Amino acid sequence: MARIIDGKKVAADVLAECAAEIAELKAQGVTPGLAVVLVGEDPASQVYVNAKVRQCGELGLHSEKIVLSAQATQAEVLEVVRRLNQDESIHGILVQSPPPPQIDEESIVRAIDPGKDVDGFHPENVARLALEDEDGFVPCTPAGCMRLIEAAGIETRGAEAVVVGRSMIVGKPMALLLMARGSDATVTVAHSRTKDLAAVCRRADLLVAAVGIAEMIKADFVKEGAVVIDVGINRVDDPAAKRGYRLCGDVAYEEVARKASAITPVPGGVGPMTIAMLMKNTIKAARKRSMAAVGR
Ligand code: NAD
Repeated sequence: MARIIDGKKVAADVLAECAAEIAELKAQGVTPGLAVVLVGEDPASQVYVNAKVRQCGELGLHSEKIVLSAQATQAEVLEVVRRLNQDESIHGILVQSPPPPQIDEESIVRAIDPGKDVDGFHPENVARLALEDEDGFVPCTPAGCMRLIEAAGIETRGAEAVVVGRSMIVGKPMALLLMARGSDATVTVAHSRTKDLAAVCRRADLLVAAVGIAEMIKADFVKEGAVVIDVGINRVDDPAAKRGYRLCGDVAYEEVARKASAITPVPGGVGPMTIAMLMKNTIKAARKRSMAAVGR
């Protein structure tokens, strides 16, 4: 039976580091600030946004939650981003994805000051990640996966890693992080057009699933003794559950756990890491800005 990689525990360690770093910054007169912009009323987005703001409060970070109606125009969202870019009390800005269909998400992301882009989605930060330039911001979910892998003591050097999913939010940055110097994995990225996905996945010493399809990765996708990181968060109907649904990952947990050597659960695996790494990125943004101010 696989060892369970406890995301709640590792996230708590990251948040304890954050608390110490915040105390240090506050002693220098800097309170890191995060602005979270929500456009519309998507229920999952509301949950995520509230969790981010709550986490800021618990750590003593300044936060601002800006809610725009589901009918908001592109110009209105851009205006909010421009105001936040100028706001000295705000070091990190994120616009919760997905916005309503009338909003062009890509141009909103490009309007965010790259030095405040704590989601790491601005082209400048994407380039910095590809260049292995540590000055940039790494997207929070793959950064959280890397931290989990490290905390669990898993050797990535020379390992065969397979990442299933090629999104800009998870799959692609995850692949870049795994192949970067220091991680040194041999990386394959699989996606919706991959032929014989199960055979590709079976090559993996380290399998990262970021597909968005409930329990798609079955035991026959997994090599005996592989490490499995499940990024998926899917709602599946469950009349027995209080809310009428339960959360599950992209991995068929029970059967895969019998074959893997280590696995992340859902919930309680990658999920808590994402928000912890967002706090880290916000602190990094505040530190960079205060260092730039000293240099001025
Ligand atoms: P996405 O829909 O943008 O990308 C999914 C990827 O999976 C695509 O690249 C696609 O090519 C690939 N894919 C789709 N069907 C496939 C198939 N049949 N076989 C192989 N590949 C296939 O999703 P995303 O934003 O990358 O998110 C992936 C999952 O991770 C979702 O369940 C999402 O909810 C979850 N997620 C979790 C966190 C977290 O904090 N834990 C954060 C972001 C996303």
